[in-house]
Amino acid sequence: MSANGTEKHVKVLVLGAGPAGLSAALYAARAELEPVVLTGMQLGGQAALTHVIENYPGFPTGVGGAELGELFQKQAEHFGAKVEFDMAHEVDLSQRPYKVTTDSGQYKADTLILTTGANPTHLNIPGEVELTGRGVSYCATCDGWFFKDKKVVIVGGGDSAIEEGLFITRYASSVTIIHRRDELRASPVLQKRAKEHPKMNFIWDTIVTEVVGSDKLETLKLKNVKTGAESTFDTDGLFIFIGHVPNTQMFKGQLEMTDLGYVVVNDKMETSVEGVYAAGEIADPHFRQVITSAGMGAAAAIQATRFLEAETA
Ligand code: NAP
Repeated sequence: MSANGTEKHVKVLVLGAGPAGLSAALYAARAELEPVVLTGMQLGGQAALTHVIENYPGFPTGVGGAELGELFQKQAEHFGAKVEFDMAHEVDLSQRPYKVTTDSGQYKADTLILTTGANPTHLNIPGEVELTGRGVSYCATCDGWFFKDKKVVIVGGGDSAIEEGLFITRYASSVTIIHRRDELRASPVLQKRAKEHPKMNFIWDTIVTEVVGSDKLETLKLKNVKTGAESTFDTDGLFIFIGHVPNTQMFKGQLEMTDLGYVVVNDKMETSVEGVYAAGEIADPHFRQVITSAGMGAAAAIQATRFLEAETA
């Protein structure tokens, strides 16, 4: 049943349908709590955008990201979870049951599991969206392997760019860091390691202005920000690591968050508000893996179940 213009009361409402949200729904459904999952914009989360996932256990030869998302959904629905293609745009955590206003109406939820994820920051340049998954990537752990003996470019100068760049050197023939300044932001230890690595090169004071390729990435258009000089650079891969933004704007001022906007949780996935849990990348700036997000989602649902049981005991 949808919340179509009406108000619906649920025991467990999950915001987000990536690995964390659908795993939380599976566990809450098996606890007979009839969870409702609001998908938001991206069913399957960021994982669904990944061509092949080869590091999620149980799939020895890998599984498509979208296919894995569908399997997660089917399994949760099999046990009674309801997945609604609906978007939450306002929450009121001031008192229970918590109010969630969506495109189609309003929910009142005894417990909330927040799994709205994070999005990698994009360069927002021509060709970037079109060639994502065809040479352009935001995840070295997911896609580094596809660039065995190939040329890779990394954009960014922070810890992520350098750490992920060093990771990709195990596959790629060369890794070129393109940074908009002449000084890295990354920690000195990582900088030293990168600068001493025989496969790593640097192009300073430069931005990528366009990603070019018909079927797959072929060339980058570059611009030197000091001289204005324009050039091209042929490459097989472009990894963009210029930061992540957790999707937590809706909860601002209502939950404890870090300076970077991640929801603060304890080891039971409890947030600063009783009966509200967070799991996956909304609360995880460190790992960002399907398996860790799924694990956090399961933990959040187990804790929500215990919380509801304690109330009725
Ligand atoms: P970050 O520290 O914010 O670095 C982002 C980098 O991208 C900066 O070098 C920035 O350039 C560049 N950048 C931003 N917008 C850009 C744009 N539009 N075009 C071109 N370049 C752009 O992000 P992060 O590396 O993801 O790290 C996030 C946090 O996690 C940091 O606190 C970091 O220390 C931490 N982290 C730690 C580890 C570790 O300890 N092993 C690993 C990963 C991340 P400027 O330098 O010019 O601003």
